[in-house]
Amino acid sequence: SKKWKVNATTIDLGDGIVIEDGGFQIMAGPCSIEGEDQIRKTIAHLKENGVSIMRGGVFKPRSSPYAFRGMGIEGLELWYQLAKEAGIKIVTEVMQVSQIEEMDPYVDIYQVGARNTQNFNLLDELGKNTDKPVMIKRGISGTIDELLYSAEYVFSAGNERLLLCERGIRTYEKATRNTMDLNAIAVLKEKTHLPVIADPSHGIGLRDFVEPIALASIMAGADGVIYETHEKPEEAYSDGQQTLNFPESAKLIDRMKKTFELR
Ligand code: PEP
Ligand code: MN
Repeated sequence: SKKWKVNATTIDLGDGIVIEDGGFQIMAGPCSIEGEDQIRKTIAHLKENGVSIMRGGVFKPRSSPYAFRGMGIEGLELWYQLAKEAGIKIVTEVMQVSQIEEMDPYVDIYQVGARNTQNFNLLDELGKNTDKPVMIKRGISGTIDELLYSAEYVFSAGNERLLLCERGIRTYEKATRNTMDLNAIAVLKEKTHLPVIADPSHGIGLRDFVEPIALASIMAGADGVIYETHEKPEEAYSDGQQTLNFPESAKLIDRMKKTFELR
């Protein structure tokens, strides 16, 4: 809370890549890491557009056990080699305590997914057993206070390098996958000293509306946006319906930068 920690938390990833209050960082990439060719093409797209942080899942929490569940640690090792050469940082989801040790050398930011926001053992261990930053997503039906308590678990266990992510919540509305809670971005910016990241891809779940929600998130105060992009979204192993192709992604980056200048 800002009540006792007045100065905003800055997340310094090295090489001049910083996530901070009043700044703006973009994290983009596929929902799932799928293979070398896809990683290379995504990195090339990000570099062309001045993006320094790549997202992607190698451990995927899927609603169905029969869906693609990720390339696992081998996928992360491969991704790390290619990203490192290119000077790109990695944000990726950790699903369970036992993965922290094997993932740690390769991760720049751990993502705690919406299904694990209240996995308190995982949060405790991310507090105790790593000094890498942790981005906690809001739970599927989580309140703002519950998200803050989840951050408090990691914080109180010893890791203060935290980011919060609004990724939409489940409501009665069926027209969109989730309901992006722009209110939460404004409220979190007021209440906490932590960077707030917006995820419009999961927030609305439909590619045609990712852009307006991303831009609205920036105006609501987000310190960064994370979204999904893939060379061929229709062939993506997961979340294709909310994934932008590279030209759409390039356009979004341009509009986000212009919107940030207006803030
Ligand atoms: C993801 O980032 O691909 C993901 C699974 O997100 P969430 O946990 O917000 O559903
Ligand atoms: Mn996804």
